[in-house]
Amino acid sequence: AARPGDAARALRRSGGVPRDLRRIVPRESDTLLVVNSGSSSLKFSVFALENGDPVLRLRARIEELHRAPQFAARDAQGRTIAARDWAAGGLALGEAVAFMMDWIGAQALGRVVAVGHRVVHGGVEFSDPVRLDARVLDRLEQLSGLAPLHQPANLAAIRVLQERSPELPQVACFDTAFHRSQPEVAQAYALPESIAREGVRRYGFHGLSYEHIAIELRRIDPRAAAGRTVVAHLGAGASMCALRAGRSVATTMGFTALDGLPMATRSGSIDPGVLIWLMKRKGMDASDIERLLYHESGLLGVSGISSDLRELLASDAPSARRAVDLFIYRIGRELGSLAAALGGLDALVFTAGIGENSVPVRARVCRDAAWLGVAIDESANASGETHPSRRVSLDASAVAIWVIATDEERMIALHTRRVLERNVG
Ligand code: ADP
Repeated sequence: AARPGDAARALRRSGGVPRDLRRIVPRESDTLLVVNSGSSSLKFSVFALENGDPVLRLRARIEELHRAPQFAARDAQGRTIAARDWAAGGLALGEAVAFMMDWIGAQALGRVVAVGHRVVHGGVEFSDPVRLDARVLDRLEQLSGLAPLHQPANLAAIRVLQERSPELPQVACFDTAFHRSQPEVAQAYALPESIAREGVRRYGFHGLSYEHIAIELRRIDPRAAAGRTVVAHLGAGASMCALRAGRSVATTMGFTALDGLPMATRSGSIDPGVLIWLMKRKGMDASDIERLLYHESGLLGVSGISSDLRELLASDAPSARRAVDLFIYRIGRELGSLAAALGGLDALVFTAGIGENSVPVRARVCRDAAWLGVAIDESANASGETHPSRRVSLDASAVAIWVIATDEERMIALHTRRVLERNVG
């Protein structure tokens, strides 16, 4: 007969992977937890598995973890269902995770059968989501040097959950993985081989968003999905990706999420000579330059007013206009470059906070891209319709223009379910 603790001991022997994987075949009442653990916030969502399909139940976040933590949760319709804050002083990640698990437990949503994590970096090794065990976690730890601002925070939540619930399967989904399909030439820098061997190459990010868009496009526009598409993921972080038949062939972000388009506070592409000048003439060191390029540049740096595009669009200040003009101009330049990588263009997709919501940004980008055969339907573009996927091009446009709501969390839930099924099969 089984003795108390047998299961836990067997689990430890197997390195955290339950021996009887059949136990985790999802049931109808089961849920998946999706976690995005950042340096100062813990975001999570819960998905129910209806006919195996993940359906959003709630999204929640604890922000300003280390200073004055605030928690808010919304249901699938966006209605606030819970909120609280903590006295100043902050929460350790372990405390935040404990709160998350206890709070979810109290919602009577069904048992959580697995956790899917957003992990920024999978290096060259991980081109697919992966079930986490001790070996995988060690490999991901080694990649922390490639993304020191994000990777450690992603992995810390995994470790905390593993200690708390060793029997709970965890899956890592990477922002880089979707781009591993790119041709070698698209991933290379013109640097000596000895440096490239250390992992200095273009990885690209926002991969979970692009993958979601590629799948959605297959459903709503099969012709474009089979052809050449550029997706503009324009949020606080912004990048663009060229898709051929649904696979990434080029993207604007590179070794880090600093490259490519100007962003809310990030510079985007910059002549590396500027960095040498800053070091030699201004005496800046690596952390000075990191602060400048990640936090003090982009829309905020150019305007000197705000990192929020809405505020800049509403402002009469010449510096606000300069920031917006530069943003639009750089999108147009990258669009031309990505269209060249594709050898033409069948569809253009706008997504993320700015891409989904900003009528003037879409209109201006499309007007500048008329030379590619892009013709926007100004009234469809301006309509307040909030359907998650809508077409805003004229019928006569050679290029289909789509506005598609991104959903990285659902993508993670889908991957997590698939990885579980694979392990069972
Ligand atoms: P993140 O990269 O943090 O995921 P989001 O995709 O949520 O960012 O996008 C957030 C950004 O979207 C904000 O910086 C805000 O400026 C921008 N945004 C949201 N709505 C609008 C709008 N109607 N017009 C212009 N910008 C908008």
